[in-house]
Amino acid sequence: MHQPLRMICNKDALATNWKWLAARAGVRCAAAVKADGYGLGAREVVSVLVAAGCRDFFVSTWWEAEQLGLLPVEASLAVLHGIGPDDLRSGDVPGCRPVLNTPDQVARWKQIAPERPCDVMIDTGMNRLGLRPEEGGVLAGLRIHTLHSHLACADEDHLLNGKQLRQFRAAAAAIPAERYSLANSAGILLGPDYAFDLVRPGLSLYGGIPRLEARGHIEAVVQLEAQVVQRRTIPAGESCGYGATFVAAQETQVAIANIGYADGYWRGFSSVGSARFDDAALPVLGRVSMDLVALDCGARPGLKEGDWISLDFELERAAEQSGKSQYELLTGLGHRFERHWH
Ligand SMILES: *Cc1c(COP(=O)(O)O)cnc(C)c1O
Repeated sequence: MHQPLRMICNKDALATNWKWLAARAGVRCAAAVKADGYGLGAREVVSVLVAAGCRDFFVSTWWEAEQLGLLPVEASLAVLHGIGPDDLRSGDVPGCRPVLNTPDQVARWKQIAPERPCDVMIDTGMNRLGLRPEEGGVLAGLRIHTLHSHLACADEDHLLNGKQLRQFRAAAAAIPAERYSLANSAGILLGPDYAFDLVRPGLSLYGGIPRLEARGHIEAVVQLEAQVVQRRTIPAGESCGYGATFVAAQETQVAIANIGYADGYWRGFSSVGSARFDDAALPVLGRVSMDLVALDCGARPGLKEGDWISLDFELERAAEQSGKSQYELLTGLGHRFERHWH
């Protein structure tokens, strides 16, 4: 069936971003592929990144691990949410480790697979997931593959960054593990002190810019294209769309395109977003609807029903326009896109 909405993902940009992050960190570089690869499609992301040299992948849940299917033998997968009371059988996914977060999870793992390697998350001040450092005693007897912690404020110059770094160094000195890992995308950009043995970027692989240091280095991976459903002329004085928030000051040429907030093209783009056709800018007029958006196409009189327009979705700018984070913009992209990898 024909889909009037396309997400075009650039393999080279994804691989280049991974390589740049790996070089910047100077250590082994993993990839967070949770939330279906931040909305791009985890299977395709993994296959591109394995080809680029990535060997370590992270998802949130066992369900996501199962959806991903078998990884190439040289790659490994870890489940960030660890092993909960309903996951006892899931722990059997071959080649897949839990990231244990609580004393209960540790006890559960010791019961089902004490001899198998696992990862552990230590909380160093975020107070989200992970064992508190003083609970580290429960880890005795485990085979810890990677000891992790996670930064709460790496996208800012925040006092907590240095504090978490000191806490993690102390935990790393006390808890034996094969590898230590602290940094997400933004953490990599904080500098080599934060790199340890392994870094775990997500957002920046997919084109996100969490800190200024990434500008000019991280490339856009995702491009959104939608088909024009109708072309119309709005007479001067008439409005367009819900709430009649756009009123034409003069006769205005409008293209109605097949994308809306149900696709993750949020209402925040109303009156401020834009699209491109044949290098011309087509500003969004009025409110974004669920499945449609109105674009001023005065600059392209030839634009017609069935033509494909490209949405301006440069993540930093789109986040500012829409009031969403770059994370929400990517993971919010809906299920109606036909995904193309080039
Ligand atoms: C999601 C996640 C990452 C990746 O973070 P980004 O900010 O997207 O780079 C790394 N580590 C953990 C524990 C995560 O949950």
